[in-house]
Amino acid sequence: MSTGQDYRDPVLLGGTAMLELFERSVQELHGVGQKRAQLYGKLGIATIGELLHLFPRSYIDVTNPIPVPQTVIGEPAAVRVRVYKKLAEQRIRKGLSLFKVYATDGAGNLAITIFNNRYAYDGLKLEEEYLLYGKVGGNFVMREMNSPLILEAGGDLTMQPVYPLTEGLTSKMVITNQKEALSMVTGGAYEPLPKEILEQYQLCSFNFALQNIHFPVDPFSLGLARKRLVFEELLTWQLGLALVKQKNSTSTDVTLSDTSIEPFLQALPFTLTSAQQRVIGECLADASSTVPMNRLVQGDVGSGKTMVAAALCYAMAKNGYQSAMMAPTEILASQHFKTLSQLLSPLGLRTCLLTGSLTKKQKELLKEQIRAKEVDVVVGTHALVQDSTEFASLGLVITDEQHRFGVNQRQKLVDKGEHPHVLVMSATPIPRTLALILYGDLDISIIDELPKGRQKIDTFFIPPSKRERAFGFIKQHLDEGRQAYIVCPMIENGEQEVANVTGYAQRLREGVFAGYTLGVLHGKMKAEEKEQVMRAFQTGETQLLVATTVVEVGVDVPNAVIMMIENAEMFGLSQLHQLRGRVGRGEHKSSCILVSGLKTEENLSRLGTMCSTSDGFAIAEQDLKQRGPGDFFGKRQHGLPAFKIADMVEDLSVLKETQRLAREIVSQDPGLAELGHKGLRGLVSALLPDAPTV
Ligand code: ADP
Ligand code: MG
Repeated sequence: MSTGQDYRDPVLLGGTAMLELFERSVQELHGVGQKRAQLYGKLGIATIGELLHLFPRSYIDVTNPIPVPQTVIGEPAAVRVRVYKKLAEQRIRKGLSLFKVYATDGAGNLAITIFNNRYAYDGLKLEEEYLLYGKVGGNFVMREMNSPLILEAGGDLTMQPVYPLTEGLTSKMVITNQKEALSMVTGGAYEPLPKEILEQYQLCSFNFALQNIHFPVDPFSLGLARKRLVFEELLTWQLGLALVKQKNSTSTDVTLSDTSIEPFLQALPFTLTSAQQRVIGECLADASSTVPMNRLVQGDVGSGKTMVAAALCYAMAKNGYQSAMMAPTEILASQHFKTLSQLLSPLGLRTCLLTGSLTKKQKELLKEQIRAKEVDVVVGTHALVQDSTEFASLGLVITDEQHRFGVNQRQKLVDKGEHPHVLVMSATPIPRTLALILYGDLDISIIDELPKGRQKIDTFFIPPSKRERAFGFIKQHLDEGRQAYIVCPMIENGEQEVANVTGYAQRLREGVFAGYTLGVLHGKMKAEEKEQVMRAFQTGETQLLVATTVVEVGVDVPNAVIMMIENAEMFGLSQLHQLRGRVGRGEHKSSCILVSGLKTEENLSRLGTMCSTSDGFAIAEQDLKQRGPGDFFGKRQHGLPAFKIADMVEDLSVLKETQRLAREIVSQDPGLAELGHKGLRGLVSALLPDAPTV
């Protein structure tokens, strides 16, 4: 990427108006005092620069007013009407006055009611024409609007911006403030994107974009503006990730000279799927180069991600390196430990489990052994392995994530070792879009194949009235020696959650399932208690496990064949899929029963998707579309950036394009040090203050 000499550097050319505006308080604007500044504060806006980056949610096309009789009752509409009657103020009670105005567009009449706003009432003059926008009420005889947005019919605006508002802040206020703020952006000098990029991707200038995103001249200009701003936002994010990726690509001494894993493959009780073999190959190739591996392995539930981890641990040990595998919970850590030690001990590898439930003495002993290289593979919870454990020769860090870590957090972890290889396993399939954003600093491998002989899990959707029959179905399987789960939704109020689950289990124990053994598992239990309950279920001591979503991730009990989920409408699709993945792990035919009494079209369609689809990636895609990225991961900490304008579903192609471009820029100008990249550097450091080299 060459930097033309004529590149107009915003700082050097003194065209700093835009940058300065990030230092100037919104209170400098007319009509913005302390009170309104506080309202803006609620929207995260303190400066004029930030106000200018408050983009409209949508636009009202006022070029297309609808004839009054054609407006849809209950929906917002724009109409062009002439005022023909104004009634006198009506005082309903102290502090509430009401103004009635009647208008017509020739085709139909409209009754306008204005509450407590003499100013707006006075503004509507008899026999004058106005553009009004608002929700339409009334009936087929007379349409109504309450306190509509009043626009001047003769104004030059064709599209009226609709901003995200907060109580007390009206559209009119924001529009007035935006207009003044825009007038303060002087000159065309501020342009953070290099000229070459503008040309190559046919992007409009920053100033044009800013003007037209707020007050579009026409839909075409709005399209140009949005394209440019989305591009800029995503490019900035991808540059941040590319810089992190680049930092982690400094050379490492950990290189595998011997990558044959024949003995490991021989010892497995099954043959690996070709997808597993391919992904292991990709990882081994990474680990035998001098650039540390930074790879995400994604795969549907049950696709056998753990085998990839095991194969790598084996290769590491064979080359004299230790591996650390970290899981988010103790249950998962001990399960990974069990799997890995079963596979690797017969091959002579020494494996240990480091968790909080060990005594202090036991922990110290283990850490001593790790330091002395008497252990090859350490499995533990993140906190334990991360904080105080020293390794003799750490070659590989494996993290089993549940979208918990942002870029910066993962970075911290990597900085612990001497450039170890890093393998990130994502516990659930996530859509490609999100993977690019969350894990854009990593290479991605996908295990897109399930082991042979896996049976499809039959999924049923039943109303609560059929619950008793489902219980009968479960009993039948318990009698045959199988096990089952019943999951109740997690409830925010912890106390209630416990009461809910324990109460539910109690009723079953005394009722339908009298004579069977039941376990109860919920989030408020201590780690040891959970562990105990899980172990009892794993060994088959308890036949039926009643639980909240704590069983969601990773727990492996092949003898469990039924997953029944109460209040299925309260779960996201991905979460349901994840829960369903707890069964169907053994040789027995398995089923999933979704119980829901909610008969909305949306719920019926969602649960229908669950019954007809078993592809976790497709389900995740669907989930993301329906719920949006914010809700996709529920309330968990997910490290997703809050984009101001980009839409992760709609702007997928831009996301890909900017990722490629960002990597190209960073590989040619690793510190974004070139003059032409100064603007980009400014954008990245504003978005990601912790990003390396910025
Ligand atoms: P996940 O991708 O959900 O973490 P796991 O690694 O836990 O999947 O594997 C799920 C189950 O499938 C385990 O019981 C594992 O032993 C088994 N498994 C993994 N790979 C294969 C394979 N190639 N053939 C048969 N079974 C396999
Ligand atoms: Mg797993």
